[in-house]
Amino acid sequence: MSIPAPSATLSRIDHHIGGRRISGTGPTAPVFDPATGRQTGEVALATPNEVDAAVAAARTAFEGWAQTPPIRRARVLFKFRERLEAEARTLAARITAEHGKTFDDALGEVARGLEVVEFACGIPQLLKGEFTDNVGGRIDAHAFRQPLGVVAGITPFNFPAMVPLWMFPIALACGNCFVLKPSERDPSPSLLLADWLADAGLPPGVFGVVQGDRAAVDALLEHPDIAAISFVGSTPVARHIHRTASQNGKRVQALGGAKNHMVVLPDADLDQVTDALLGAGYGSAGERCMAISVAVVVGDSTADALLERLAPRVRALKIGPGDQPGIEMGPLVTAEHRERVLGYVDAGIAEGAALVVDGRNAALPDHGFFLGGYLFDRVTPAMRIYREEIFGPVLSVVRVESAEAALALVNAHEFGNGTAIFTRDGGAAREFVQRVQVGMVGVNVPIPVPAAFHSFGGWKASLFGDHHIYGPEGVRFYTRQKAVTTRWPGGIEGGAQFVIPTGG
Ligand code: NAD
Repeated sequence: MSIPAPSATLSRIDHHIGGRRISGTGPTAPVFDPATGRQTGEVALATPNEVDAAVAAARTAFEGWAQTPPIRRARVLFKFRERLEAEARTLAARITAEHGKTFDDALGEVARGLEVVEFACGIPQLLKGEFTDNVGGRIDAHAFRQPLGVVAGITPFNFPAMVPLWMFPIALACGNCFVLKPSERDPSPSLLLADWLADAGLPPGVFGVVQGDRAAVDALLEHPDIAAISFVGSTPVARHIHRTASQNGKRVQALGGAKNHMVVLPDADLDQVTDALLGAGYGSAGERCMAISVAVVVGDSTADALLERLAPRVRALKIGPGDQPGIEMGPLVTAEHRERVLGYVDAGIAEGAALVVDGRNAALPDHGFFLGGYLFDRVTPAMRIYREEIFGPVLSVVRVESAEAALALVNAHEFGNGTAIFTRDGGAAREFVQRVQVGMVGVNVPIPVPAAFHSFGGWKASLFGDHHIYGPEGVRFYTRQKAVTTRWPGGIEGGAQFVIPTGG
């Protein structure tokens, strides 16, 4: 495939520091339209000085923002929410232009992010503390939560708006200042969000964006004025972030990669399963951390009947530019990622998996980072395509003999982000939910992403740290508790007390 020339005018994607756009002084990286393969922009890669400037602006703004009553912080978020809703199509178009996912899917991404803003608008209620009258003789106790200070978010390419929105609305509502380091592959949605926060009345410095790559992340990890780091991305980087941030005394939550299994029991409705696997396996070209990449099918006859339905639908996927109507699957994010996914297809063939649908036969546009949908059968746990996260439109079918064997397979995997079971048997589903070692579970729901007022997070190598993200766990992550014990002079008895006080 020939490489198209860059667009005549490249957009320049800079930082947002201290409430305004700041041109980078360091190197840049190219940004592509994945549907054409053309370079459309160049993104600044922050130097340590630029990271320092964003953190310094946030630190200066912190005291005033932390002292702003929660209801007034919520009002800023209300206004931001109105803008986000009004401009959802603008933001979705930016996502499609740099990520490649279909416009409708990008709108869905914005809607899920907006729900977190709505949750954060309830912050006065969420920050209500605890009070106990008379814990001891004329002594009262209360506990409340305070913001951490300046916190940072480092986000992946696959949800350039939603994953930042998992983090900063709650961090800001709790009274923190926030520095975002978006993915360098699709960086411009972050600047729209920064502009809309500023227009909503957020004081300068409370929210900043530093564009960049590993160097910017390292500067954030080392910065003494960053109190906490939220990271979402691949597992090797999540491990590194968790280790380094912890060693540097920061609170950290690092969400990593996934290999999500869908267990199909023989009594499942196979038409429903087929629809679910198409959307969850091939939607967003498989570039979702909650994508289903393995179907674990109980019984050969169930597997044969499922593949009979599924294979023609995978062959018929409508693949093309995400901004065109009727398209079901857009391109992959970059040419390198496309090659990486193809490398896994080669590995699957070499290791002896049965390639039921070969995406190389799909009709694809001439340019852009497109791939067909791939479907493997008779995949075994020893194969690389089973063990590793592919993050592309490649679905593997593993055949097992029993529900017990399916559960054991899921539990033995390194990752534990999401899983689903499809069955009509309530008892079997309940058993699975109780015993599976995975953080998010769907019963006849293929992508069980928790709603904004719950919290999101995997287990095992899919999350490092103690807190899940957004929802009530998000409020806990971005605050720390203070416990106060109070008595007034009239309640103080004379004489020194040498015995530990008790409530009795
Ligand atoms: P990535 O790990 O390559 O990058 C994530 C972020 O880390 C980016 O901002 C990037 O600039 C930065 N980064 C990359 N390499 C780094 C390094 N060596 N040191 C420091 N920083 C580095 O991930 P990606 O390719 O952008 O996103 C896809 C991955 O994210 C997949 O593994 C997917 O499963 C995962 N993901 C997980 C969740 C979740 O909730 N668990 C959600 C979305 C995506």
